[in-house]
Amino acid sequence: MMLSCTNSVRALRGALLSSLLLAANAYAADDAHWGYDQTVSPEHWGELPGDAICAQGVAQSPIALVTAGAAHPQLEVPRFHYATSRVRMLNTGHTVQFTYDNGSTVRVGGNEYKLAQFHFHTPSEHTKDGVEYPLELHLVHTDANGTPALVVGVLIEEGAVNAALFTAFRHLPRHMGEESSPAGALINASALLPHDKAFFQYAGSLTTPPCTQGLQWYVLKQPIQMSDAQIAAFERLPHLNPNNRPLQPLNGRTVSVHSGR
Ligand SMILES: [Zn+2]
Repeated sequence: MMLSCTNSVRALRGALLSSLLLAANAYAADDAHWGYDQTVSPEHWGELPGDAICAQGVAQSPIALVTAGAAHPQLEVPRFHYATSRVRMLNTGHTVQFTYDNGSTVRVGGNEYKLAQFHFHTPSEHTKDGVEYPLELHLVHTDANGTPALVVGVLIEEGAVNAALFTAFRHLPRHMGEESSPAGALINASALLPHDKAFFQYAGSLTTPPCTQGLQWYVLKQPIQMSDAQIAAFERLPHLNPNNRPLQPLNGRTVSVHSGR
């Protein structure tokens, strides 16, 4: 999860969280109070004003996902209803965020969540059976109040060229605050999901300050593929490698695994 942070944002966060998420110029409020290397590294995020939960929270993300250790309760399966969107990218200084057009949702049980944006981390934030992947995709969904509520994580391994991201990844915005909207470029996020929808599910948090808890995480078990050149295109963006938060303690939480069917 990626959000901007400033004192003013902290004062307003909560009600305005989602509108900030969606604000095309959210980066403008970002004063680099936090980061991964040069600025304030993850172990110090909790010392930032308003971000204490990053250190004190007991249900934080990401976590180490373990296939063998996961419980298998009866879970509601997420149903994806993703439509095509324009490609609108923003380099936030912490990731490249793709703002998604209205009209795409995921349904879990009786609840519906709107796909607001997706973005990438390198290397992956979650690990699966001890394996770290070169990239991880986060599809951020908001509830009826516009608050981030459900994140779908997709691990990305090196392999075939990802056609859905072909144009976008040739036009990644390189610097903080830069936008990129390749003419005519469209994407359907359903093409970023593996065919096999088996998933891990657990209760976690934003993986960036303010590390707000209460998010539902669905991390798909099967990775998708991108070519080495595509992965390198992201890895070579200035100041974004790495942009992954270290693994957080499970603290007794249950991680469920489901076949997705
Ligand atoms: Zn994220």
